[in-house]
Amino acid sequence: MADGTRRIGIMGGTFDPIHHGHLVAASEVADRFGLDEVVFVPTGQPWQKEDVPVSPAEDRYLMTVVATASNPRFQVSRADVDRDGPTYTVDTLRDLRAEYGPDTRLFFITGADALEKILSWKDTDQMFELAHFIGVTRPGFELSAAHLPDDAVSLVRVPAMAISSTDCRARVAAGKPVWYLVPDGVVQYIAKRRLYQT
Ligand code: ATP
Ligand code: MG
Repeated sequence: MADGTRRIGIMGGTFDPIHHGHLVAASEVADRFGLDEVVFVPTGQPWQKEDVPVSPAEDRYLMTVVATASNPRFQVSRADVDRDGPTYTVDTLRDLRAEYGPDTRLFFITGADALEKILSWKDTDQMFELAHFIGVTRPGFELSAAHLPDDAVSLVRVPAMAISSTDCRARVAAGKPVWYLVPDGVVQYIAKRRLYQT
């Protein structure tokens, strides 16, 4: 930006696997908010998913790298993958704040389903101090910030992609295609590493 402040989007997720719903949301928010970069941050151990099996962090990280490689404004951070213990967004924000320095505004992008539950996350007051939150539409979920502090959150309508990682995993397990739901390189990575074939 003209005043030298960098505007950085953060897209956190399990990305098991990353799909076009994630990528469209990030691209649309980057355009609407004039972001210089969007950093995708795959979780380490997601605390909300402790009782469901999650693919190895390294596979989820590499799929995220493959999916974002062609976009010069998309980056991938290992911050959560490399931190021990369950991943909390407040820690992600602290780490990225330290990495990017004070002349940066952070924008945390989250889908409508995650935004509904955000007040159950750890240290929400600090979270809202560290970043501005951007809730995006997701088919099947109501997008609302009524439960959240004023000015903490903006809501953005993004092209509707009725895609979830859960559905992609179920499709692979059932031998059905995931072409065009996830980037081509991710289809190939899933096959190469035989992910989701229970
Ligand atoms: P799972 O089914 O395993 O929970 P998911 O598709 O919900 O996977 P996550 O990695 O859990 O993907 O989501 C990361 C972030 O992306 C969350 O904020 C989520 O709300 C958002 N998101 C996921 N899919 C979409 C979509 N199709 N449209 C908009 N936002 C999405
Ligand atoms: Mg999810």
